[in-house]
Amino acid sequence: MRYLCLLIGEPGVPTPEPGSAEFLQMLADYRTATSAMAASGVLVDSGPLDPPAGARTLRIRDDRRQVTDGPYIESKEVIGGYYVLDCQDHDEALRWAGTIPAARYGAIEVRPLKGHIADLMDEDACYAKLVGWLHPEGLTCPQCLKRDRLGVHRRHRAPVLDYQCGHCGRVFNAFTGTVFRRTYRRPSQLLLLLRGIAQGVSTAQLARELGCHRGTLLELRHRLQESAAKQLDRTPLSDSVVEADEMYQNAGEKRPGAWRSGRSAAAPGQRRQRPRHLGQ
Ligand SMILES: [Zn+2]
Repeated sequence: MRYLCLLIGEPGVPTPEPGSAEFLQMLADYRTATSAMAASGVLVDSGPLDPPAGARTLRIRDDRRQVTDGPYIESKEVIGGYYVLDCQDHDEALRWAGTIPAARYGAIEVRPLKGHIADLMDEDACYAKLVGWLHPEGLTCPQCLKRDRLGVHRRHRAPVLDYQCGHCGRVFNAFTGTVFRRTYRRPSQLLLLLRGIAQGVSTAQLARELGCHRGTLLELRHRLQESAAKQLDRTPLSDSVVEADEMYQNAGEKRPGAWRSGRSAAAPGQRRQRPRHLGQ
């Protein structure tokens, strides 16, 4: 379960003067607490907030957008930052919140986050996105490579449809023969998984967040890396002067682009247009 910890400064409780020894100690305590949360795997995200004066508040009434400067409510208490923690229960979240210095200078509100981001995602839209990446030229029969006469075979896992090729009879879906073969996950989960991997989130944390088995996830991660490595263009750069963007290309981009070009191999001799990847 995720918990949002809001760090609230309370009027009347003095905070250390910037630059003072106490202030530096407070910063050090923040770093110690945050590192410990990260090391234990409970830390999802954290950050300080700009002062409320920098906020802009949006309302839409009768289809009209109203933006006002400042926070939605004026108050003497100021939310100065937040932590999102992934904990077993409220007690564990409170224990971790107790390590945050803000508890000493104000208050920390620890509130459970309901549901999961996947609940807010549209499966059809996620599926369309994945199909676009995996098959930019459209679905193809993995056996005879024909693109026409593909009939819908079964809809039991809609929006992921099973197709049957009218030429060779092969039954397949958009994930057959791709890195996502036999993953049996909802499109929203696959998209969140890619997002997590691209962001460098640990396998343990992703498994916890998406409620899936760590071993299965690790296997998929390796498959993705393997696929990215296969796309690696080992052609040396053409000149001795290396441009910064070329170095960036060679450093490898952790983006879905790394694996999406696993289709339609370039014809022999044809120069590959995709970016170069070192793999990992
Ligand atoms: Zn076929």
